[in-house]
Amino acid sequence: MSKNLSRRTFLKGAAASVAGVAALGLTGLPAIAEGESWDVETDVLVVGAGGAGVSAAAEAALAGAKVLVLEKGGIIGGTTNFSGGVMQAAGTKYQKEFTAYQDDTPEKHAALWIKSGEGTVDEELVTDLANGAPGHIDWLADVCGIKWTSIYGHCHIPYVEDELMADRIHVYEGGGGIGSGGIYVQAVWAVAEQNGAELQLNTEVKRLIREDGVVTGVVAAQGDKEIRVKANKGVILCTASIDHNEEMAKRLSPQQYYDLKNSQVLSAVTDTGDGIRMGMEIGADISGMGGCIDFCAKTGAATNNQIPLFPSFIVNQKGFRFVCEDATYAYHYRAIFQQTMQHDGPTYMIFGTSTFDDPATVWTAETAQADVDAGALLTGETIEDLAAQIGVPAANLKAQLDMWNAYAEAGEDAQFGRKTGLAPITGPFFAYKNVAANLGSLGGLKINTNAEVIDVNGDVIPHLYAAGLNAGGWIGPYYPGSGTAVMGTVHWGRKAGAAAAKN
Ligand SMILES: Cc1cc2nc3c(=O)[nH]c(=O)nc-3n(C[C@H](O)[C@H](O)[C@H](O)COP(=O)(O)OP(=O)(O)OC[C@H]3O[C@@H](n4cnc5c(N)ncnc54)[C@H](O)[C@@H]3O)c2cc1C
Repeated sequence: MSKNLSRRTFLKGAAASVAGVAALGLTGLPAIAEGESWDVETDVLVVGAGGAGVSAAAEAALAGAKVLVLEKGGIIGGTTNFSGGVMQAAGTKYQKEFTAYQDDTPEKHAALWIKSGEGTVDEELVTDLANGAPGHIDWLADVCGIKWTSIYGHCHIPYVEDELMADRIHVYEGGGGIGSGGIYVQAVWAVAEQNGAELQLNTEVKRLIREDGVVTGVVAAQGDKEIRVKANKGVILCTASIDHNEEMAKRLSPQQYYDLKNSQVLSAVTDTGDGIRMGMEIGADISGMGGCIDFCAKTGAATNNQIPLFPSFIVNQKGFRFVCEDATYAYHYRAIFQQTMQHDGPTYMIFGTSTFDDPATVWTAETAQADVDAGALLTGETIEDLAAQIGVPAANLKAQLDMWNAYAEAGEDAQFGRKTGLAPITGPFFAYKNVAANLGSLGGLKINTNAEVIDVNGDVIPHLYAAGLNAGGWIGPYYPGSGTAVMGTVHWGRKAGAAAAKN
């Protein structure tokens, strides 16, 4: 359906963000000329068909709205497809059935997320997410046919009280492994489709259109063709964070920028911060930028509380430890990034031949030798030899090893509170250079608990929503543990879909 625009696009609030937008090298203010026409019309327009996008589409379609989803890639799913699809929730019937945690609550869950947010998260958003999570677990089972089969927990965070920890990471049938997030995407999209939602692939949304302060549609590219899509009830941005946008990462997230230059960024390559840029272009505020989801793909260290970390410790360029190595992965990888910057050189995981006897070891004598031959591990007969191999002061590394072995004898890591793998390490010795595998960037557009986007003056931008990793403020400066992000896609997607459908 086609309809002439009666008014010029009105960009309330945009002026305030012009400087920031220009600083990011963005295109500037969007505009649609008077007399230009719409090519397509819908009620709720969802931009991006990852976890947040399909959840938003399903919820809006179930509420009776006409829904159109535009997806830049050739398939639905985005980064969510690559994920294990595991999701955190507290107090569910499944948690009671599968774990020893019989009286866990969303309040404890929120308290953990708030504490791990180190004063930077929006507590209202975090509380809303924790309260909504158990209901989403039921919705996914009852409405979308997901079958929950097991639950585990994430590893500890040194300053978070033990009583706030619990096994909350829900795993569905076929889920948990890399690439099984597609099961969640397909199950939820099936509900959206059955309720009338439509999808156009290979369609890249370029900019938002705003009339009299209200977001009324978007301009999108389909190959060489530009189309203008009218959204009568709202536009929901679900394009994830700035994962593969080097320029935005350089300005907003030094750790993501470092990873883009030096590590593997495993999220969808189509996640280039488009929704965040488009929101900023019309004056939206941002929140929670700076963190990312980093972990060690070689060892999987501290990704699951059922798998102890084998005897090993991590040192910086001075040859000293600096972090609790079995604390949740993105927490200790934030410290690895900071130490790498602070000392202008890599950090190393140190272990010894004695480590091969540990049941949790990821290296046997044979695989260690193969990695030495391939150049992936360095080795030394003595700790001094190893220090020379990795270029750290021998006396420091020797002192650190002695300290570790003394803690192991005493059964307590007085330096960093290590909980697992605290056993003596004897040589010959090995060193593994830490390289992050990056599962995505954190932070996005500032939202309220209706997933409405907030502008730089603190006002709601009417009819504009953001969900999943396109929205920020609900995760802190590092990723607290598996299952937070995907639960966030369901929660903010459904909230945005419901709110937009009501307009
Ligand atoms: C290997 C791996 C494993 C992981 N495992 C887990 C896990 O088990 N549990 C967990 O909680 N988290 C996990 N994560 C993190 C989690 O998967 C992501 O943070 C989350 O899925 C992001 O969801 P999203 O809907 O916000 O974005 P996405 O799923 O990435 O969807 C965004 C979509 O928007 C599209 N798009 C982008 N720009 C445009 C545009 N301009 N126009 C139209 N479309 C556009 C993209 O093509 C993409 O399809 C994992 C991540 C990785 C990489």
